Amino acid sequence: MPTANAPIFGLSSQVGGAIAIMRCSGKNCLDIAQKLFLNSNKNFRTNFESHVMNYGFLWDEARQTILDEIYLVYFEAGRSYTGDDMIEIHCHGSSAILHRLSEILRSLDVSPAQPGEFTRRAFLNGRVGLSQAEAIHELIESDNLQQASIAINNVSGGLKSKIVTLRNELVDCAAHLEATLDYPEEDIEFINQDSLIKRILDIGSIIDEIYQNYDRFILSKNGLQVAILGAPNSGKSSLLNALLKKERAIVTEIAGTTRDHIEESIQINGYKFKIIDTAGLRATTDEVEKIGIERSLEFEKSSTLIIYLYDGNTDVILRESGTNCIHILNKMDLRLSDKSSKLLSKTDVIQISALKLEGLYKLESWLVSKAAEYLCNKTDLPMLTSERQRDSMHRASDSLQSFQRSLINGIPMDIALVDLYEALDYLGQITGKIVTEDIVDRIFEKFCIGK
Ligand code: GDP
Repeated sequence: MPTANAPIFGLSSQVGGAIAIMRCSGKNCLDIAQKLFLNSNKNFRTNFESHVMNYGFLWDEARQTILDEIYLVYFEAGRSYTGDDMIEIHCHGSSAILHRLSEILRSLDVSPAQPGEFTRRAFLNGRVGLSQAEAIHELIESDNLQQASIAINNVSGGLKSKIVTLRNELVDCAAHLEATLDYPEEDIEFINQDSLIKRILDIGSIIDEIYQNYDRFILSKNGLQVAILGAPNSGKSSLLNALLKKERAIVTEIAGTTRDHIEESIQINGYKFKIIDTAGLRATTDEVEKIGIERSLEFEKSSTLIIYLYDGNTDVILRESGTNCIHILNKMDLRLSDKSSKLLSKTDVIQISALKLEGLYKLESWLVSKAAEYLCNKTDLPMLTSERQRDSMHRASDSLQSFQRSLINGIPMDIALVDLYEALDYLGQITGKIVTEDIVDRIFEKFCIGK
C-alpha cells in the first residue's frame, strides 16, 4: 500500500493536443524536477521557486538525450492543488513523448495516479471539502455555461461555506439547549428556548430551499426539454434544423415523414435546451404514424416548454396552451392567411420563416427568458451538484422536521436533540467533515460557567 504522499503522476490534458500537462504530486517532486529539468543553457537546476514557470528541456537520463522542450512549474507543499509538493510538466502532446515521459517517471518510482487521486489527496490534506471535490468534477464535465457557473461557485466554496455557516449556527443552538439541560442550576444567561427553536426551524427552511434548488441544477445540466408540435408540413423539421444551424432532420414536402421524434441539444446564451422534433399531429389510419403521434402527445405533457408550430398560410386555430408554450406561425416569407394574420396581435404568437431563417431571434429570446425563469437561482443560496449531497440534505431536513415534531409532541429536549445531532451529521457529510465532540466543546467555549 503506497503512503499517503507517495509520488504519483497523471496526464491532466488529452494526448494529441499541441501541449500536454503531466502532473506529479508527492513528497519527492522536487527531486524529480532536479533530475528531469535542464534550463535553457542545458544545465540541471537545484532550486525551483514555487509557482514559477521555468523554460527548459526534459532530460532522458537512460537515453542520454533531450526528450522535449518544456515548461516546468513547481508548487511547494501547502500551496499546491493536492497540498503536497507538486510539479507540472508542460510538454508537447505527442503520444511518443508522453509514453516515454511516463516510463521515465515510473523509473523514478513515481506511480500512475488512480482516477481522481489528485483531488482525493487534496481532500485528505484538507485543501478542499467533499462538496468542492464534487463540484470540480461537475465543472470538468459541464457542457453549458449555466451548469459551469453553478459548479464554479461550489468549487470556490459557495456550498461549503453555506453549509459550514448553517451547521455552526445549529451547533450553537444545540449547545445552548444542552446547557439548559446540563446546568439548570447555574447562573447562566440562557437564550430563550423558543427563539432557539425558531432559529433551528428557520435553518430547516433554508436547508429545504437548498434541497429544492437541486432540481434546477439537474435541469441546467440536462437542458430544458422543448417539444416542437404541429401538423405535418408545418415546418417542424425545418425549425429544428434552423435552431441547430445545420441539417439534422429530413425536410420533405410529403406530410408525415417524421414518424418518430428526433432529439438534439442546442445552447443559447449559455443555456442548454433539448429540442424534440415530434411526429406531426393529424388524424391518420397508419399504425406506425399513430404511435408517433401518441409519443408527440406524451412529449406535449412531459416537456418543460412547448413550441406550437403552424403553417401560417393555412387558417390556423391555436391549440389550447399554458404559459410554458409559444405559438409560431411559420412560412412568413409566403403571405399569411387573413385568419393567421389576425392572430399576430395575441402576445404569445410570433411569425417566422424556418426556411429563410427569419424571425428566429424572437423564438430564441423567448427560450432564453423562459430558461432564466426556470433555471436561474432566485435566492442567493448555493446549489447542490450531486445526488449524494441531495440525499444528505434531504436527511438533514427530515431530521430537523422530526426534531420539530418531537417538541410539538412534548418529547423531552434531551431526546429531541438526537434528531438535531443527526441533522448535523448529515450536513457534515456534505462537506466531508467528520462529526466530532465539538458540540460539547462549544458549551464550555461559549459560556463562562460558574462565573
Ligand atoms: P414538418 O413535417 O412539420 O417537419 O415540416 P418540414 O420541415 O418537413 O417542412 C415541410 C415543407 O415546408 C418543406 O417543403 C419545407 O421546405 C417547407 N417549409 C418549411 N418552413 C418553411 C418556411 O418558412 N417557408 C416556406 N416557404 N416553406 C417552408
